[in-house]
Amino acid sequence: MNFQPRASHFIDGEYVEDANGAALEVIYPATGEVIARLHSATPAIIDKALNSAKNAQAAWAALSGTERGRILRRASDIMRERNYDLSVLETHDTGKPIQETTVADATSGADALEYFGGLAASLTGEHIPLGGGDFVYTIREALGVCVGIGAWNYPTQIACWKGAPALACGNTMVFKPSETTPLSALKVAEILVEAGAPKGVYNVIQGYGDVGASLVTDPRVAKVSLTGSVPTGRKVYAAAADGMKHVTMELGGKSPMIVFEDADIENAVSGAILGNFYSSGQVCSNGTRVFVQKGIKEAFLKRLSERLVNAKIGDPMDEDVSFGPMVSKNQMNIALSYIEKGKAEGARLIIGGERIDRDGYYLQPTVFADVTDNMTIAREEIFGPVMSVLDFETEEEVMTRANDTEFGLAAGVFTNDLTRAHRIVAGFEAGTCYINTYNLAPVEAPFGGSKMSGVGRENSKLAINHFSEMKTVYVSMNDVEAPY
Ligand code: NDP
Repeated sequence: MNFQPRASHFIDGEYVEDANGAALEVIYPATGEVIARLHSATPAIIDKALNSAKNAQAAWAALSGTERGRILRRASDIMRERNYDLSVLETHDTGKPIQETTVADATSGADALEYFGGLAASLTGEHIPLGGGDFVYTIREALGVCVGIGAWNYPTQIACWKGAPALACGNTMVFKPSETTPLSALKVAEILVEAGAPKGVYNVIQGYGDVGASLVTDPRVAKVSLTGSVPTGRKVYAAAADGMKHVTMELGGKSPMIVFEDADIENAVSGAILGNFYSSGQVCSNGTRVFVQKGIKEAFLKRLSERLVNAKIGDPMDEDVSFGPMVSKNQMNIALSYIEKGKAEGARLIIGGERIDRDGYYLQPTVFADVTDNMTIAREEIFGPVMSVLDFETEEEVMTRANDTEFGLAAGVFTNDLTRAHRIVAGFEAGTCYINTYNLAPVEAPFGGSKMSGVGRENSKLAINHFSEMKTVYVSMNDVEAPY
């Protein structure tokens, strides 16, 4: 299969190349092979993309919501029809098993296009009666040109989670994927055009962080939505603040998952597996600090170890494979260095802990037990297949320890005590919480973090507020009273 796109960028409805841009190689993480060669955007390309988005915006916003929504829903249908091919591309871009990409990437992108396409026709302001017959009405307006900047773990999903609500509200977008996974966003742009999106409404340009930085500071841009790490989020938020731009920040986490003695152990082990090893652990909301109540600690670790042996590690294109490589050599080495820190700081290695001896960037699913709160592996985001199991005794104690982190993306609890479950989630300092499950992110529900994990929310009706603003119109039905 040929993964080389027709050109590096998609601007104004067509593929565009500028070979003066720095070389950007796309590597298949399962083998280390180069599967495509692209170029980073030059200043001329950045300018062209922003002009195209700026020029297209007024006419796009002037369409009725029904018309915009129809285009988004058509794009959703096309994505679903092509799910397999898009999944093969995603698997080659990211290394994630085809077993995952066929159910969690283009399908999730299609859900966002369908959901926000469905909402587009019902986006309105409101009528606010005042005294004496006067009234106010509000007009929901698009922000203008929005910039989306993506991480490498869910490239199609991120391109759609940002693009769909932006476009539904009448904005246009310039999207910059992570340089590690640049291919699928181009397909999203192609599909939107095929579905009828006017040229310039959704543009994709490639590049390293410097390209993202130029987009964020450009005066033509009204809003920036970033999915990335906390350090990048800090920089982007600060740069956007200078131009008083709207922001959505979906950043990293070190989320707690608490397992009480009364929990269903099989379900808790399933939650811990999904929340640590899906996508080889490269999921921002992962519950990487698994607090297990002392009485069930050994039983939990035993079942976890027994079940992890069943992970089928191998060629991500094999439909039976459930655990693939890390996205890049660099990311693998970062995870390996954390594993070494875990060993050096005295955590007990239960399973895994090594690179797998084969081509590509494979790490074993790794579990440490007897992890304590101050160990590096319990404090820093690893973004790899490394689970830390910590012991606890009381609810009060675990609540304090679970919240003792700068992050606040997600948190979960496994218990069969109904009131305790709700008490615990009420106490969590996190934007996205789970009771007796973990890591779901349906488009209907708000997703995002508290504390250093971000600002704003993606998905759900709330995303609309982050891609539009209200104009308030006061209407007097009476004479204007003035003091003189
Ligand atoms: P990075 O923060 O390194 O990069 C994110 C994106 O920002 C990339 O496209 C990157 O470009 C770009 N970028 C880097 N520097 C700048 C800058 N100064 N100005 C503008 N853009 C810039 O994150 P990763 O790609 O390594 O992704 C992993 C991180 O993303 C993890 O911390 C993870 O938790 C988080 N994440 C959060 C999610 C959420 O929804 N909360 C979901 C998924 C991931 P380039 O890659 O080309 O350098």
